[in-house]
Amino acid sequence: MTPENLAVAAKAAARALGFEACGVTDLASTPAVTAALDVWLTAGRHGQMRYLERQAPTRRDPGRAWPEAQSAVVVLHNYFQDTANPAPGRGRVARYALGDDYHAVMRTKLTSLGEELVGTAGIGAYRVYVDAGPLPERELARRAGLGWFGKNTLLIHRRLGSFTFVGVVLTDLDLARDDPFQSDYCGTCHRCLDACPTGALPAPQVLDATRCVSYLTIESRSPIPEELKPGVGQWLFGCDICQDVCPWNRRFASETIEPRYRAKSPDQWPTLEEIVRMTERECEATFEGTALERAGRSGLARNAAVVLENAAASSGAATG
Ligand code: SF4
Ligand code: SF4
Repeated sequence: MTPENLAVAAKAAARALGFEACGVTDLASTPAVTAALDVWLTAGRHGQMRYLERQAPTRRDPGRAWPEAQSAVVVLHNYFQDTANPAPGRGRVARYALGDDYHAVMRTKLTSLGEELVGTAGIGAYRVYVDAGPLPERELARRAGLGWFGKNTLLIHRRLGSFTFVGVVLTDLDLARDDPFQSDYCGTCHRCLDACPTGALPAPQVLDATRCVSYLTIESRSPIPEELKPGVGQWLFGCDICQDVCPWNRRFASETIEPRYRAKSPDQWPTLEEIVRMTERECEATFEGTALERAGRSGLARNAAVVLENAAASSGAATG
């Protein structure tokens, strides 16, 4: 098959699997992205995420992930849902984490896409990646024509917004490439920078992870710094604020078609008090198969205590 026919077949297969967008690119490095990554790491804005230092060589040069790879098929999958969040007595959870762990869901779908691709070609091999390897997935998505980096650093698609998972199928097959996305549709907007509760977006497209509520409540193994606790607000796990305020999401975000990304019920998880008191075993049993497992018992108990402190402070302020 020709590279053009293979790219058409890959996009048709992606659509049939429920991915809302799909593009193709190669694995060349992007000098501007490499330079920005180096500045970011040197400034220590990645905090305790030391794995990003180890992954840096492949993030700079994606072809190192698999030297035989010729093409990257990049897909987006919408996970937006408009739920009552949080339920009474509970903390807020970022939308991406409300349902089953997306890694497993995406990996299954990406594997089907890879199988379809090599089955159509009659030859070839593939590997799948979803937010768990060294690939610069968002940059590959931009290069595959799927969107631009918003000032909040997230990939924004013109008809989907930014509440999407990015998945990649690398293949040693040669597929016709899409043109990289060159425009930037943020314009003069700076709502995300203004809305961030902890000042974690000091400049457009610069995330200081060490101040970001997502990092503080998920990745960090340290206590949340006193001066940042008020900014954590009601967030038990993650933060959606810089996406919620984005006009592209306000206009285009629509309910996910994937039932496994949906919350089971508004009170599917324990109350904040219950989380503070949970044993390791109870925590594992409660959060198994969800993204919240990543924070672990001590992380979730730490976060729940901070949310309770914030609630007490705001009710004291309201009654005082
Ligand atoms: S996720 Fe929350 S804390 Fe992090 S940059 Fe966005 S608004 Fe700020
Ligand atoms: S809120 Fe405005 S500046 Fe921020 S990512 Fe969205 S469009 Fe861009």
